Amino acid sequence: MKAEKVLTPQMIQTRLLSILPTVQKPARYSGGELNQIVKDWQSTLLHICLVFPDIYDIGMSNLGLAILYDLINQRADALAERAFAPWVDMETKLRAYQLPLYSLETKHPLSEFDIIGFSLPYESLYTNVLNILDLANLEIWSEKRDEQHPLIIAGGHATYNPEPMAAFIDAFVIGEGEEVIQEIIDVFQDWRKSGASRASLLSRLARIDGIYVPSFYKAHYYLDGTFSHLEKTEESAPSTISKRIVAHLPPAPYRFIVPYIETVHERIPIEIMRGCTRGCRFCHAGMVTRPIRERPVSEIIETIQKAVQATGYNEVGLLSLSSSDYTHIADLVKEIQAHFSSSHLSISLPSLRIETFSVELMQALGTTRRGGFTLAPEAATERMRNIINKPISTQDLLQTTQAIFENGWSTIKLYFMIGHPLETLADVQAIVDLSREVLSMGRKIVGHRVQIHVSVSTFIPKPHTPFQWVACDSTENIETKLHLLQHNLRGKNLKLTWNPSEATFLEAWLSRGDRRLAQVIYLAWKHGAKFDAWNDQRKMDAWYQAFAESGLQPEFYTHRLRPLTEAFPWDHIDIGVRKKYLLQDYQRSLQEQTRPDCRQGCYACGILPKYNSLRREKGLTWKCPPLKIHSTA
Ligand code: SF4
Repeated sequence: MKAEKVLTPQMIQTRLLSILPTVQKPARYSGGELNQIVKDWQSTLLHICLVFPDIYDIGMSNLGLAILYDLINQRADALAERAFAPWVDMETKLRAYQLPLYSLETKHPLSEFDIIGFSLPYESLYTNVLNILDLANLEIWSEKRDEQHPLIIAGGHATYNPEPMAAFIDAFVIGEGEEVIQEIIDVFQDWRKSGASRASLLSRLARIDGIYVPSFYKAHYYLDGTFSHLEKTEESAPSTISKRIVAHLPPAPYRFIVPYIETVHERIPIEIMRGCTRGCRFCHAGMVTRPIRERPVSEIIETIQKAVQATGYNEVGLLSLSSSDYTHIADLVKEIQAHFSSSHLSISLPSLRIETFSVELMQALGTTRRGGFTLAPEAATERMRNIINKPISTQDLLQTTQAIFENGWSTIKLYFMIGHPLETLADVQAIVDLSREVLSMGRKIVGHRVQIHVSVSTFIPKPHTPFQWVACDSTENIETKLHLLQHNLRGKNLKLTWNPSEATFLEAWLSRGDRRLAQVIYLAWKHGAKFDAWNDQRKMDAWYQAFAESGLQPEFYTHRLRPLTEAFPWDHIDIGVRKKYLLQDYQRSLQEQTRPDCRQGCYACGILPKYNSLRREKGLTWKCPPLKIHSTA
């Protein structure tokens, strides 16, 4: 370890007393909130620190972290505590006072934990992981860590392509963590009793389904720089790593920690369904979270009751990727009305489909109209919506907006994406025309109070999706498209927000990157990159300098149309949906052909045969209906 001396929790606490009054929002760093769990350090065998590598205000709204915190702390032999990235003012103080990063619950330095588990939902957190390891006085490169160091693991949606972070993380959890975390703990306890080497721990972990130990593989490339294959260097490691899924959604947590300061979501998050069958071609989550698993209505109602009692929150978010697709949504809304109509509980139902039924649902929930009604058509022309496989007709969309206004909402938020494959300037102009049409409809129905907020992001091709082969739109095109929107979507009652294109590229390099990007991430961090998800913190110069010093071209990762035969650095990660299926779907998109919701008939994406034994064992249908006769039509 780099630290000369490990500080005790008491010493950390004492130094904190002088630091905390000098930083913004000290409650980010103090712990002690309602429902935090503090176990006895000495008598608990295994210590795990769960780290969300962004600030507390964001990390505390992460449901994955709350689930794991709850599950680990239910075990008698293990404890879970939390740590987040310190904001820049706190980091300066930590370094000045030589204070290592510590856990909120007991103020133990991170280096004292047995396992550090990073949550990586998106790629722009990568430099923060390095910064956190450094602030914890831990070696950044996994090959330099040994038995004295904590085991560094990571999971979350970004790790479905683990390669760019492979040099820093000892083991990745691919897929859902609820069951696999228990297996990791068991293996760790056994290994520790055995007194064997760290290499032995890693090889035991690699035998758990869903665990990827990157040091057991070597990447090979062709002379043109494209990825060739991954060579296994450890016999016991699997050739492909299949994502883990839970057969049933386990009981939802309800004893949520209640922060003292404002966080991004101040509500009880309840996942009503996992997975999505819509098949939007740009959507990473929709592909990697298959199959559909739903939580029973009675369990949702019971969880809301218990969570309200445990937290005092008066807002509940019923989460899923497509809430109106939840089979029992009408019953759920009825039950919510029956149980909570007199309790001033506000229920939000994000991710609703664009149809008048969604307006009826929101109406029935008595949802506040203040925040506006959100619709995500993603594209403004039917041609473009066919290409991305979000086939809603413009007529249906306008009918839905009409119903929204007629039911008393005066604000509509419209989410669009630019830079889709095959997009023309006419498709972008259509965003202007459609938004203006919705605005003039609103003026007629609700008058001058109408507000249209148009939010535009830029499409990023993601691994494991039908668009994993496509090139990112060029910088010039994106600038032209943004300029068109900025020029034409202005005026009274109309607001436009957009993401800077540079944020898009950073995520694009990393999401389809290979192992060589570790050097780029490391150098970028060395040159000052961190908090890359924050527009006011992102340092693109550091990234460009890092690419130049590594001898790699950023465009190679973003602006290159990948041949259909190309091997991808993430091909060894098996999400259950076959590459062949994704390819077929990509080719359909080029023909502007859609593939409607597979709940009406299965297209054989690969999920059912992949998880057949689990399904048989548990007697489940997972809402996957029989195969469509014309599955490739
Ligand atoms: S197995 Fe069939 S029904 Fe299930 S997710 Fe895949 S395509 Fe859809």
